[in-house]
Parts: sequence; C-alpha cells; structure tokens
Amino acid sequence: MKQISLIPENTPNMNADTHKIKILEDLLGNLSGPTLDPENWQELHHLANKMVADMLEHLATIAQKPCWQKAPESVKTRIKTESCPLQPTHPESVYNDFKELILPYPIGNIHPRFWGWVNGTGTPYSMLADMLASAINTHMGGFDQTPALVEEQVLSWLINMLALPKQTSGLLVSGATMASIIALTVARNSKADIDVRKLGVQALKSPMVLYCSTETHSSLQKAVELLGLGADALRKIPVDSHYRMDINLLQQAIDADKSSGLKPFCVIGTAGTTGTGATDPLKEIAQICKKEDLWFHLDGAYGVLAALTDKYAHLVAGYELADSIAFDLHKWMYMPFEIGCVFIKDKTLHHAAFAIEPNYLTTIPGGVGAEPMSFYNKGIELTRSFRALKVWISLKIYGAKQFSILIERNINQAQYLAYKIQQYDRLELLAPAELNVVCFRYIGNRIKVERVNQLNQDILIAIQERGIAVPSHNYINGQFAIRVCITNQRSQKKDFDIFLEKILQIGKEFNYE
Ligand SMILES: *Cc1c(COP(=O)(O)O)cnc(C)c1O
Repeated sequence: MKQISLIPENTPNMNADTHKIKILEDLLGNLSGPTLDPENWQELHHLANKMVADMLEHLATIAQKPCWQKAPESVKTRIKTESCPLQPTHPESVYNDFKELILPYPIGNIHPRFWGWVNGTGTPYSMLADMLASAINTHMGGFDQTPALVEEQVLSWLINMLALPKQTSGLLVSGATMASIIALTVARNSKADIDVRKLGVQALKSPMVLYCSTETHSSLQKAVELLGLGADALRKIPVDSHYRMDINLLQQAIDADKSSGLKPFCVIGTAGTTGTGATDPLKEIAQICKKEDLWFHLDGAYGVLAALTDKYAHLVAGYELADSIAFDLHKWMYMPFEIGCVFIKDKTLHHAAFAIEPNYLTTIPGGVGAEPMSFYNKGIELTRSFRALKVWISLKIYGAKQFSILIERNINQAQYLAYKIQQYDRLELLAPAELNVVCFRYIGNRIKVERVNQLNQDILIAIQERGIAVPSHNYINGQFAIRVCITNQRSQKKDFDIFLEKILQIGKEFNYE
C-alpha cells in the first residue's frame, strides 16, 4: 500500500530520505505546538482552586439563597445572542460569565426546599468525584483497567444493598429511561417468537403486547415506541383508589389479548409512581407473570430504594421478584446527574440482547484490549463515562447505612407534612401520602369550585417565583395538586414548616372572596 505523497514528483534530491522528510515537514507545517492544556499551569492552579473553593462555599450556603429565581431577560439575551467565539477569552473572564449568567439560575434542586418532579441533590463528595472521573477521562466500554473493576464492584454493592441474587447482571446508565429501554429490549428479545435481533419486529408471528398502569411513567411508553412495538401495544391498566394497578383488570386484559391472537410478553410494575408515590401490587404481578410466562419489569426509578430502609421496605416488597429493575442513583441516592442502573436477573439473556464483536473490539492476549468490552455488550452505548466513581467514593465515604437513614428521613418528612396538612381546614390532601410524595391543595374558605385549580396554580407559581420552595404539580382526577416529592438529602423539619406557613399565607393573600 502506497501512501499518496504530498511531495511533488519532480522535487530534486528525491533519493535523500532526510531531505524528503524536511520538505514534508515544511509542507505540513503544523506538527507540534500549543495544546488544549494551559501554557501556564500555575495560573490554572489558581483558577481551579478558586472554582473549587467557590463551589464548596456555594453548597455550604445554599439554604440561605432563593430556591429558584427567574433569570432576567438581559441575562437570557446575553447567552442567546453570543456568537461562537473564534478567539480565546481569558479563563477568569469565562468563569465570571459562569458565575453571573449560570450559577444563580438553575432549576434549584440542590436547595433544601426543592421537592419538584423527582430530582436528587448531589453531594459535595460526588461533585469532587465527578471531577476526578473527568480528569482521568477513561473510556468505560470495557478493557483491562481498574475503573472497569470499580463499576463491577459498585454494581455488586448495589446488588448486595438491594438483596438481589449475586449473579444478577447490571449496567450503570444515564437514567431510569435508558435502564428501561435496555430491560425491555431484553424482555422483548427473549420472549419473541422469532430472532428479533436478526429479523426485526416486522417478522413477529404474533404482535407482542405488554402492560403497565395508567400511572406508569411516560418513559416506558417511549421505550415501547423505540422497540418498534407501537404505543398501543402498551396496555394501560386502570388503578385502584390508592393509584395501584388493578390486578383483576390486568388479568382480564391478558386473557382478552390472548384470545384475540396477540402475544402478551411483559408486565411493568412501578415501585413509587411519579404522581403519588404509589407502588403496584408487585407480588401479585409476579405471580401473574409466572403463571402466564411473562417478563416482570420493575420501574423502581426512585421508589425501589425504599428497600434500603428497615422501616419502609415493606412498602416496595416484591421488587426482588422482578426479572429486571430500572432505577436511578441521581434521584434517591442523591448522586449528581446522570446516573441510573439496570439489573437483569438472567445474565445470558442480557448478554444475548446486546453482545456484538466487530474486528476492532475483539480481545487480544495482552495490553489494554486483554479484557472484553463488557459494558458495551450489556447496553447500547459504547463510549461511556466513569459514572461509577461517584458512587464508589460516596459509598466508601458515607457508608451505605447513611443512605438508608436519609431515605427513611425523607419518607418520615412526607408523613409529617401530610399529617400537618390534615390539621388545617384550609388545606386538603388529594392522594394518600404513600411514600415520599404529598399531593395537596389549598381550598381556603368558601372558595368556588371552578376557582380552586386556578388558585392552586397561582399559589404554586408564587411559591416558586418568590424563591421559597419548588414543589411541582400534578392533576389528580382533574384537580390541580401541589406536589411535594422529597428526594432531598438537605431538607430539614423546619423547611416543611416554613413551606406550609408560606402556602397558607399566599393562599390567604390570593383567596380574595
Ligand atoms: C424519573 C422517573 C423515570 C425516568 O427516569 P430518568 O432518570 O429521568 O430517565 C421513570 N420512572 C419514574 C417512576 C420516575 O420517577
């Protein structure tokens, strides 16, 4: 093979190799020079120390700051109108931009009174761990490296914490959405009546259908759509008065689908729904799956971690019967985004759904490539970050026990808040506070039914915009609910007292009748 030459054929002295190299060097020019590393490491030391000190100070004083504040239009405009910088800007000045334009205006989930949607808070040590992981910036597809052992170890610690079978197969992923996509892929492939990897869903002999409840998270529908089954294949079973899947209706739906020639293959149960914190009847779902030969997938995004507590583990009992579990560490394990995890009971099926070995990824007897691409062969992504490090460091520094204490505290706090809400005639609990989620509204005194939703939306917006707290909302049977979901390691009892006091105050202020 001859490399196309840049050197003109008629160049004199063509036989002198050193001369040819010299000509080549002159032609190419840019062969060495400044890199993306600083020219002056000392200067960077100074800036980096300042960044770390500022961020630790920011975390240490977060409770004194507004939970959320709306960015002024001028700030938004500055970000939106800046054209791509072609020339360098002084690092100090870029850091100042960060402090001015970005630091004050995130959604606020590191604050002790942030209870919106389902967000974690992060921790100072995991912040530093992310920095360390970025510094070594290793590729986590697999290979012979101790970071790979760290991920395997973190997975085995989590398996141990959740008391799952030792041989459970796992993978750290970006979040519960990705975890469910992976789990449902394994479920689909292993239950299909053809080789789906080879032939695709278009070759299925009978169309595959699966089940979840009307309260199941939307990410599961996305997963089903991505798997090529179509959203209609996901049957949404109605729930009971506690927002748990109705088991009788589940059985009826399976029977009906079977008799119309469809192939039921999976039931998705949830431990801790996003809406109200409900947990489906997991043991009953497991029984039906066993009887009907269906895959049992558990969406335990945050809720399954209640299993780490002695006091509340019973609320999610039965999770261990699932064939696959999707959950997040960036929610109720308080890790910085993004990190979720998928567990698949059957290692062989997990591997069979994803393993692939192109020439350039085969193992060789030594060197970096002596170990296989074990993570790539358990999921979708090839290049992966070393997200395991923050969990490894956190579990070592805090100890696993500390997480069960904090999770238990969050549930206690929800129970405390729900109890207090019931003490006020002007407030109404809208759903049972099952786990760490409290849905309620302000009903004031003689307030007209048609105004209640609007009033509560106004109260929610005010509580957020005044920087007091960030709950989110939900509609429960058409009723606008202020929804508090506590996956916050910083919240204290007084935060809930302040919150309720402000709700009552703002409710009174708005409830002009
Ligand atoms: C948050 C959540 C998800 C999605 O998880 P991501 O980490 O955002 O992908 C799925 N299910 C439930 C119950 C959730 O709360």
